[in-house]
Amino acid sequence: MRTANSKRGSFTLEAAIFLPIFIISALTVAYLIKLIAVQENVFHALADETRKAAAEAVFTPYPLFFKGDAVKRITEENGGELENLRIARFDYRYGIGEYTEQIRVTADYDIGVKLPAAVIRDIPVSDTILCRAFVGADNSAAPMSAEELEEEKDSRTVWIFPRSGTKYHGETCSYIVVYPKELILSDNVRKQYAPCKLCDPGSMPAGSLVYCFRSAGKAFHRGDCTSVDRYVIPIELEEAEAKGYTPCLKCGGY
Ligand SMILES: [Zn+2]
Ligand SMILES: [Zn+2]
Repeated sequence: MRTANSKRGSFTLEAAIFLPIFIISALTVAYLIKLIAVQENVFHALADETRKAAAEAVFTPYPLFFKGDAVKRITEENGGELENLRIARFDYRYGIGEYTEQIRVTADYDIGVKLPAAVIRDIPVSDTILCRAFVGADNSAAPMSAEELEEEKDSRTVWIFPRSGTKYHGETCSYIVVYPKELILSDNVRKQYAPCKLCDPGSMPAGSLVYCFRSAGKAFHRGDCTSVDRYVIPIELEEAEAKGYTPCLKCGGY
């Protein structure tokens, strides 16, 4: 009798120790599987939005609402799980040398860890998609290989007037500092610049093209504002040369 009792007692003790550990392990594994599923979902939504943007290239030089649409869709599909979602990078139809019409999208976000007593609160995730825009047979070029897309080229940015002129300039050249630069409207731009009172660009959606003067005033404008007659855009030196731009005689392109 005594022996049987003590055996049952030791079994109960083992269960009391190991059952909670087993349950916590099983829950943690289930939770990790869920985190992977969330990341897969986000990547799928981002890839699908990028595919649409690539297909739109036939019609548009730049899909203005891409960032907003992508963030909205990813949030709708993964709402409660994500924090600090943003499209950190969206290079659309950029090209280096013979490789043109590339698209690069990077989404950054945190997955909130909702485990009790978890040491980590957020898991930061960064997803990047590289692909080529669909621009039709008339505008075909050699696609870049994956290695070439990922290679960080040693490049230099120069500034051009896309509407006039054939010279490229350095960022501090006196020809370009007095003209506004073209930017994509983001929360950052809204923080740094005030909306112009004449053209009221504050109501424009995120992703719109706006124009900011660097030296005079700290306002941003719509493209049709009377204060924006010429503007400058940054471009890779290699691309400027490929398009036939030559160095400015004053600054030499530096
Ligand atoms: Zn110059
Ligand atoms: Zn204005």
